[in-house]
Amino acid sequence: MLKLDFHPSGRHFLQIPGPSPVPDRILRAMSLPTIDHRGPEFGALGLELLSKVKKVFKTESPVIIYPASGTGAWEAALINTLSPGDRVLMFETGHFATLWHKMALRLDLQPEFLGLPGYDGWRHGVQADMIEARLKEDTGHELKAVCVVHNETSTGVTSDIAAVRKAIDAAGHPALLIVDTISGLASADYRHDEWGVDVTVSGSQKGLMLPPGISFNALSSKAIETSKQAKLPKSFWAWDEILEANQNGYWPYTPSTNLLYGLNEALDMLLDEGIDHVLARHQRWAAGVRAAVEAWGLEIQCLDPSVYSPVLTGVVMPEGIDADDVRKIIYERFDLSLGTGLGKAKGKMFRIGHLGDCNDLTLIATLGGCEAGMKLAGVNLKGSGVIAAMDYFATNPLDAGKR
Ligand SMILES: *Cc1c(COP(=O)(O)O)cnc(C)c1O
Repeated sequence: MLKLDFHPSGRHFLQIPGPSPVPDRILRAMSLPTIDHRGPEFGALGLELLSKVKKVFKTESPVIIYPASGTGAWEAALINTLSPGDRVLMFETGHFATLWHKMALRLDLQPEFLGLPGYDGWRHGVQADMIEARLKEDTGHELKAVCVVHNETSTGVTSDIAAVRKAIDAAGHPALLIVDTISGLASADYRHDEWGVDVTVSGSQKGLMLPPGISFNALSSKAIETSKQAKLPKSFWAWDEILEANQNGYWPYTPSTNLLYGLNEALDMLLDEGIDHVLARHQRWAAGVRAAVEAWGLEIQCLDPSVYSPVLTGVVMPEGIDADDVRKIIYERFDLSLGTGLGKAKGKMFRIGHLGDCNDLTLIATLGGCEAGMKLAGVNLKGSGVIAAMDYFATNPLDAGKR
């Protein structure tokens, strides 16, 4: 039998960049009895959360909720808007962009994969000027969509989506803008309407602090219009029937009732605190963690400070050290889970998640586990990252004088 009770005393430190720790308040909300998904209470709940969720995406347009992981919502975004053989422009920021590209190939699309070369290409964000140049060449408007990852979870780079919008407009190109902010939503600044995004893809288990299992497509009216002509086969993922049922707060099939209780609670938590405050909290944590990496004398995966992620930080190990060996020691000795290096970054770095339900002390403890574990693994550290982070948090209070 799978042994799930192997953790030592105290709470496990789940500091991977998703799933993120689920607050007790959300777990409690999810423990309520499952109700009839066709009954009147459910309709009221559905209407309430479909309206509240728009605020997190900063949109007035409909947001579709799927009972699926983020990957399902990726697929939904493509198959609702595109037809077999359509050309799409995707940008290689890291492992998740690469997986999305692979999916586009499997769906019978013709994706072009723009990017900066090599492993170093995974240390920068989307280059909007490259997108603009490519779209200007496409005078016949064969490219039907531009697909970019907002917060590239494999590297800790948060790309400038407003700049991508500007690039598309500067090229006078009609392509749809489809954005993955599965790990960015509710942790990194995101503005679906203001940035003119046509489809935003997101998921539950990162900034929204929920368990894995639901995901989202935020739409634009242009995306909805385009979907009426799009010819890739779809049934479960089709927006039309979902949008119709959603008008009364229902779904065409059984939704994830208890996860939706959790979503409703998460939305209350985020909206009561205020999204801008939530974002400021994440920026501050990220700065504290970067202060630690700097004090250790190690490199951050992201080489461009203007696109440092507020969600996670990739820590590059010195030559000759396997980052997964370090992670293993940290996990076994300190009951702390860190993100592994993915794809081109495998073995080169680990990722510290600082999203969702964290606080200064959970992060100081996390950095303590990293520091002690790296020492055990023989990593040469210049100084104490823990002390640097403590100093950063102590001297940069978020709500000075509130308590
Ligand atoms: C987590 C993640 C995904 C995949 O989502 P799943 O829920 O694992 O299917 C895709 N893109 C990004 C940027 C992610 O962080």
